[in-house]
Amino acid sequence: MDFRLGDKSEVLRKEAREFLREVLTPEMVEECYRTGVMHNVEFTKAMRDKGWLAPGWPVEYGGQGRDPIEILALSEEMARAGAPTYGIGTTMMIAWVINMVGTEEQKREILPKALAGDIVIALGFTEPENGSDAAAAATRAVQSDEGWTINGSKMFTTNAHIADYVFMLARTDPDAPKHRGLTTFLVPMKQEGVEVQPVFTLSGERTNITFYNDVFVSDQWRIGEVNAGWRVMSVAFEREHSAAFVGEQERLLDHVVAWARETPGEDGLPRIEEAGVRERIGRAATEIEVSQLLQRRTAWMSTVDLPTHMKGSMSKLFSSERLERQAADFVEMLGPDGVRGRGDPTAPANGEIEHALRHSKGTTIYAGTSEIQRNIIAQHELGLPRPK
Ligand SMILES: Cc1cc2nc3c(=O)[nH]c(=O)nc-3n(C[C@H](O)[C@H](O)[C@H](O)COP(=O)(O)OP(=O)(O)OC[C@H]3O[C@@H](n4cnc5c(N)ncnc54)[C@H](O)[C@@H]3O)c2cc1C
Repeated sequence: MDFRLGDKSEVLRKEAREFLREVLTPEMVEECYRTGVMHNVEFTKAMRDKGWLAPGWPVEYGGQGRDPIEILALSEEMARAGAPTYGIGTTMMIAWVINMVGTEEQKREILPKALAGDIVIALGFTEPENGSDAAAAATRAVQSDEGWTINGSKMFTTNAHIADYVFMLARTDPDAPKHRGLTTFLVPMKQEGVEVQPVFTLSGERTNITFYNDVFVSDQWRIGEVNAGWRVMSVAFEREHSAAFVGEQERLLDHVVAWARETPGEDGLPRIEEAGVRERIGRAATEIEVSQLLQRRTAWMSTVDLPTHMKGSMSKLFSSERLERQAADFVEMLGPDGVRGRGDPTAPANGEIEHALRHSKGTTIYAGTSEIQRNIIAQHELGLPRPK
């Protein structure tokens, strides 16, 4: 058994590190913290120039035909550097859906712009009353001769304020069983009746609540068949093998190790010499290795056409909860210094450790909460009954 990623991945990892050194400036990273927005046009264009907006797409569709194991190295390096890739991720996820189920007209309209890094597509799944149970969406789309009229609201529509479109799940048949009465639309944000209000999370991340008041969209913007929205959603997620946070865990550990090397303790020696500090660092490093292995297994399974759903849940659950625990552990280790944040010139690691604690909370919520991941594992991996 060989757990390494292989030469192709390591070449790509090296290239990604060089790229990030050149392209990802401290100003870009600073802007992400200041605005809470993990999207940057200049960075996106540089990614496009490398062909890294859709590295896993087949070459004939404008991608590089790279396999999930290669891409793992790329995404790990991006996260480790704190690169603004959230907007790229959502845009390319939906561009792929359009590539798979869209009309020729939709493909002509959207794909070249997505592959050029010229548009942002936000995800409109969660609603104020339905998050984990996205299929309970209450936002209504009613058909008329000319198209559809949409009414409702979506919560946590990240990047909606800079997006060109929101990919929306809407109820089109209220009488059908909940998974069968949904349709997906690509709603242009400039349509009359779309309203965006900011929502800032604990970590300062900017997301939004979006309102749709009699928003009219022509049938041209319906993605997939009417009432087949849940199937379209599965296309959106089928290439997302595992939403693990290995890069974020490594980033945190990098900062903590640097701090422990540079900071003298009461005896004048660097704190890395202290047994307690080494113990916590060693524990985190071990957990990162486990996170990495779980994620690698999931990526490998997708290359041999094994279902990745349950193992992906384990991977996401483990890495997000460990990130959360490690961040709490390190903040505690730093004592009062640990709660000093960005903007305080004396904050350890420029406030990255304190920020990781706040950021980690969200990782256990989006892309399926920890409870939902545990339900999936219990039900599908262990064969336990469905939760009531
Ligand atoms: C920073 C951030 C960015 C986000 N970006 C987006 C985005 O771009 N687009 C988008 O559509 N959404 C986005 N989300 C929303 C995210 O996907 C939801 O928050 C998540 O799915 C949980 O839904 P909810 O908030 O409605 O919580 P709920 O589903 O109401 O859950 C509340 C609590 O109940 C638990 N729970 C729910 N159901 C069960 C169950 N069956 N069994 C056991 N426990 C259960 C949950 O685990 C949670 O602890 C974002 C969220 C955050 C925090």
